[in-house]
Formats: sequence, structure tokens, C-alpha cells
Amino acid sequence: IQDGMMDGVNFEEDSSAEFEKSMAESAFEKLQDDRKTLPVYPYRDALLQAVNDHQVLVIVGETGSGKTTQIPQYLHEGGYTKRGMIKSNLLLQIWRYLWSLGAGTAKSTLSFPEIGCTQPRRVAAMSVAARVSQEMGVKLGHEVGYSIRFEDCTSDKTVLKYMTDGMLLREFLGEPDLSSYSVVMVDEAHERTLSTDILFGLVKDISRFRPDLKLLISSATLDAEKFSDYFDSAPIFKIPGRRFPVEINYTKAPEADYLDAAIVTALQIHVTQPCDGDILIFFTGQEEIETAEEILKHRTRGLGTKIAELIICPIYANLPTELQAKIFEPTPEGARKVVLATNIAETSLTIDGIKYVIDPGFCKMKSYNPRTGMESLLVHPISKASANQRAGRSGRTGPGKCFRLYTAYNYYNDLEDNTVPEIQRTNLANVVLSLKSLGIHDLLNFDFMDPPPSEALLKALELLFALSALNKLGELTKVGRKMAEFPLDPMLSKMIVASEKYKCSDEVISIAAMLSIGSSIFYRPKDKQVHADNARMNFHTGNVGDHIALLKVYNSWRETNFSTQWCYENYIQVRSMKRARDIRDQLEGLLERVEIELTSNFSDLEAIKKAITSGYFPHSARMQKNGSYRTVKHPQTVYIHPSSGLAQALPRWVVYHELVLTSKEYMRQLYQRKCPREKAAQLMIRSLVQITDLREEYGCIEICPGTGEVSIASLVLLQELLDELE
Ligand code: ADP
Ligand code: MG
Repeated sequence: IQDGMMDGVNFEEDSSAEFEKSMAESAFEKLQDDRKTLPVYPYRDALLQAVNDHQVLVIVGETGSGKTTQIPQYLHEGGYTKRGMIKSNLLLQIWRYLWSLGAGTAKSTLSFPEIGCTQPRRVAAMSVAARVSQEMGVKLGHEVGYSIRFEDCTSDKTVLKYMTDGMLLREFLGEPDLSSYSVVMVDEAHERTLSTDILFGLVKDISRFRPDLKLLISSATLDAEKFSDYFDSAPIFKIPGRRFPVEINYTKAPEADYLDAAIVTALQIHVTQPCDGDILIFFTGQEEIETAEEILKHRTRGLGTKIAELIICPIYANLPTELQAKIFEPTPEGARKVVLATNIAETSLTIDGIKYVIDPGFCKMKSYNPRTGMESLLVHPISKASANQRAGRSGRTGPGKCFRLYTAYNYYNDLEDNTVPEIQRTNLANVVLSLKSLGIHDLLNFDFMDPPPSEALLKALELLFALSALNKLGELTKVGRKMAEFPLDPMLSKMIVASEKYKCSDEVISIAAMLSIGSSIFYRPKDKQVHADNARMNFHTGNVGDHIALLKVYNSWRETNFSTQWCYENYIQVRSMKRARDIRDQLEGLLERVEIELTSNFSDLEAIKKAITSGYFPHSARMQKNGSYRTVKHPQTVYIHPSSGLAQALPRWVVYHELVLTSKEYMRQLYQRKCPREKAAQLMIRSLVQITDLREEYGCIEICPGTGEVSIASLVLLQELLDELE
């Protein structure tokens, strides 16, 4: 090309923009057409009519029929967000007026989400909100938004809000009549999560004094009568599903290694079946999924070029947002997708195009021992109901096949019919604190759909009493009121509230944020394990304990002005750190709300540990002769997790953050307490047993009769002893 020739070529920028616009328009039109093909679409008008006629409606429809994405949109189109417009304008005027008088009013009083839809899982809330904003052609966070713990993607404009059930529960604390909502849809009700169950009781109650509030309870399973009965015989609206036949296959003998069996099955399907449908495998968690992903990548490499491409798509709660969208991308012609999912794909998320489901038959489930107060997350066989939901994922768009990696005998004889609701197998301390701060005192008579074991309720009251969140009468204390503001486990919130006394709130919220990330902070690549371990141990010098090490990591990162390079050099996950920073920012905001000053006291590590102990003293353990530990409350043998900085040091007394059960019962994240003199230690242990003498002195809460007394006193005693011994 000669100089100057280019001058002659003129590109019109306009027309290319025009082209993109028309592409976007046609994509938008396609979305609108897709909406019309969903099973719920023919029932749009009938549904709106039913909502108009009844205050409470139970909606039943198979997964993928469009309940979550469509119904809130129908309600929006049907005018259920108008009320807010009027109200919000009125408020706007009042606000302007107050403003003109010089009185600052919180901005939050101006935002009016009108339709709220709850989801048990945060990934579902985010991904559904993203989808609906596309369908409505608006920017996510504007008219359509989502709110999950530590992340609020809504604005003044938001009229349609997806959120976790836990978030709506928290909103009750600020707005006990939910006055900013005209419709609340409690979605995925069949999952019966703890928060959903508590929401049932609360929304049922407000629906009585707010006749203008519409309530939708939607579920993917057919046993809706239970919901209907609970909500005073609310009518049931059924959306007939379109389900194609699903062929169920069982293994002849039980599989010893379901992970391997699942991978082998997936590869067999991929190699022998025509490339016309994707595969969905259910695993129990992130680690399993990552292992499976690695093995699959390795094995498909060996298959050569004759075999079609296999696209591996993991999905689990902690998967970074930008990767979550990948599972919904249509599979390219001539390739096949294999989705490696947790329970999240059972009913919360629908991935189109699945033809084969592989079901190892397990999920991770919380279980709680109300006697000892110990909670653990264990891999557990699923229920028949879950197995059938999973199988159903293969028959949405055409006939499907489900491969169960267990025997037919197992299915019929060993699996429970239904999963036990979470409320009956979990620690209730958090919920009890929330309910107490809502002014609900008589918990034993709260309108539970299925009441929790009363032992678990007592255990929760007892712990809150020991943490000084409740007084002897079971009433919320000042400390308890502050604790309730934090969306955290009560022990964690207590440690934050206690940081005021020790003037180290700055450090303590950093530690709390680091403990709340939910994914690992240290990165340990296979080929650089020694370097990674050395880098990690740098933060542990002086056997400061894991909490202080986490704090050092955070503070060092902050000093580099949040440098990514620094993370690489120190084998630290940038993403985890960014999340910690976000969480920390929010905790800082909450500190302000409860009027705790942000004060730093880094030079006094003991003060920081005292604040932590004030929340975690029930997690004390003492070393045994053989290097194992005994927990002080409800003696149990435990070990220091190998990842702990104190794994070699083996201090006599430790306080741990949590127990995890893998090959052994391990304490994870722990620090050393000063070694009490032997006599005091003896006293501490003895008094846990011979507590009766001390009962008078320490008292107990009236509503906590029977065995509760003993351990309340022992907890209080333990804390006092620890305080004395500092
Ligand atoms: P239900 O709540 O009844 O299970 P949904 O409303 O979640 O059904 O799903 C309806 C349809 O929307 C499904 O075909 C599903 O694949 C699609 N869909 C939902 N979320 C997304 C998303 N984030 N991206 C693409 N498609 C989605
Ligand atoms: Mg749904």
C-alpha cells in the first residue's frame, strides 16, 4: 500500500454502531421470544389474576419452568411496582422538604424495591438477577438488582430485587413491616433452609396486619399442601411442567470411589454417545469439583483429536462471578459441555441443554449435635426427593438419561424420602439473636412450620447468655443489640463488639473479614510448595497464632496499597484478599452504626487476642500427653490442623475458630492462650464437672431449665477464669 492510499478509504463509524445496535436489538428480541416458550408463559394472566384475588399464593412448578425469572417480571408488568412510585415520589417531596430545612435524611429511605424475591443461594440470586436484567433490557443494579451478604447491587431505581433469604431476614431488623415491598416471593421454598423457615413465620405474621402485601411461596416439588396448610389454606397455583421421559440407570454394585466413577461415566458418555446433549455431574463441593476438573482435563488430553471437544464448566458458591456466566453459554456445534456442579444445579439454577445427569448420590450437609453444641459439615447421602430432582434435570428439553452411581437397592432401601429441614439440624444462635432483636421473646411458641428441637433452642439461648448478648431473663442486652447488627456468627460479632474495650477494632475487623472469606487465602502450587510454605511461615514468626498471621497478611497487603504483585510474591490469592477488603469495608460501616470507634492497637497483640477470646472462649482446648487436644467444654479429642502455624509448636492451651472433620477432627485457625498455672487449670476442669456448688453464685436464665443451667454456669466460669488468667 502506497502512502496516502489509506486516505481514500473512509469508514463510516455510524453504520458500525448501527450494526451493533441492530445486533443487540435482535438478541433482545430473541430473549423476548425465549421468554414466551417457557412453561409458565401461558399462565401469565391467570397468575396475575390469582395474585390479585388472594393475598397468599403457593406456586408449584418444575425447575426451569420460569418461576424465578418470569413471575417477578409479570408482577412488574402487571403494575405491582406502581404503588412504590407514588409513595417514593411522596417521600421524595418530604425528603426535599426536610433537606431544605437542613435536616439530613438517610439516602436509604428513598430506595424502594417493590418486588422482593428470595433465593437460598447467593449464586442463584446473582445469576438470576443478571438474567432478568438482560430480559428487561436494563443495567444490572438499576431496575433489577440483587443483594447478598456483603454485596449490595441495587440502587434507588431498583424495583425488582433478588436476594438471599438471609438478607431479607436481616432487612426485617431495619424494617419490621417490610413496608418497602408490595410483593414478597419466597422462592425455592422446598429447600427449607433455616432462613426460609424463619421467613415463613415472619411473613405470615406481617401478612395479617399488612393486607396490601402480596405473598408468593414458590416451590419445585409437588408436596405443596404443607405450605398451603401452614399459610391458612392458601390456594395452590400449579404450573404444569413439560418433562420428557428420563431413563434411570443404577450401578450393579456400590462404587467405592464415586469421584472416579463419575469421571469414567462422563467420558464413556462423551465417547460413545452422539454429541447432542450436555452432561451434568453433581459433586459435594468446590474441592471435589476442582479435583474432577483436573482429572478430566488430563484424561481428555489423551483422547486425541477424533473425539469432540469437551468443555468443562464448574459451578459452586465461591466461583468468581465472571466465571459463573460460562455455564449458561450455549455449547458450540460439535462440542459437548460437562457441568460440574454442587447441589446448586439441583433446583436453583437451570442449565439448558442437559441430556445426561450423573448422580453420585451425595451432598454436603450441616449437622448439629444439640447436646454438645458441635456443628459439622459432612458428606451425606441425598434423599429420594433430591435424587429425583437431579434426574429431572436431564429431561427438560428432550428425553434424558440419569446415571445413579449407587444401586437400586440403595435407592429404595437406604435413602430417606425427604431431606430433614435445616432448622432441625443446625446451630440456632444466629437466628435466635435475630428473632430476639425483632422483639420475639417466646421462641418456644414461635410459629415454626417444623419446630427445631427444643434442646437446640436452649443451647442457642445458653450460648448467647454466655456471650452476654442476653441477660438472665433472656432479654437482649446492649451488647446483644450491637451484635445483632453484624451479619455474622454471634461469636464473631461478640469478638468485634469486645474490640471496643481493648481499643483494637481496626485489627479485629480485619481478622473477622479474613475469617469470613470462605475460600483459602494461601496459594500452594504443586511445583512450588516449599516456596509457598516459606512465604506463609513468614507471617507466623513468633508463633503468634493463625488469627494474628491473617492480620499480618492483611496489613502487609494494605501497606503495599493493595498490590497484586505483592500477592503473587507471597503466594496469596488476590481474589480472596479483595473479598476480604470488601467485607472489611462493610464491617467498618457497621462499626460506625453501632457507634464503636475505629481504633488501632497493633502493638498489643495480647489485647487483640483478648477481644477474640471474649467471643471464642467456649472453643478452648488443652493439650494431652500424646500431642492431641481435649476441648474443654464437652470433652472431645481434636487435633491441630496441619495448615496451622502452630502445628509444630503444640501450645498447652489454645482457642480455635472452628472444627473441621476430614480424616480426624481438626481445629482450624487457632492461637495460644497464656498457660494458666496448673492449679487454675485443674480448677477449670474440675469446676466444669462439679458445677452445682457454683450455681447459686452464677445463676441461670429462667427460660433455660434443666441441664441448660450447668453449662451456662460453666461457660461463664470459663470466661472469668480466662479473663483472670490473662
Ligand atoms: P424456575 O425458577 O422455574 O426453576 P427459571 O426462571 O430459573 O426457572 O429459569 C427459566 C429459564 O431461564 C431456564 O430455561 C433457564 O435456563 C433460563 N435462565 C435462568 N437464569 C439464566 C442465566 N443466568 N443465564 C441464562 N439463562 C438463564
Ligand atoms: Mg427457580
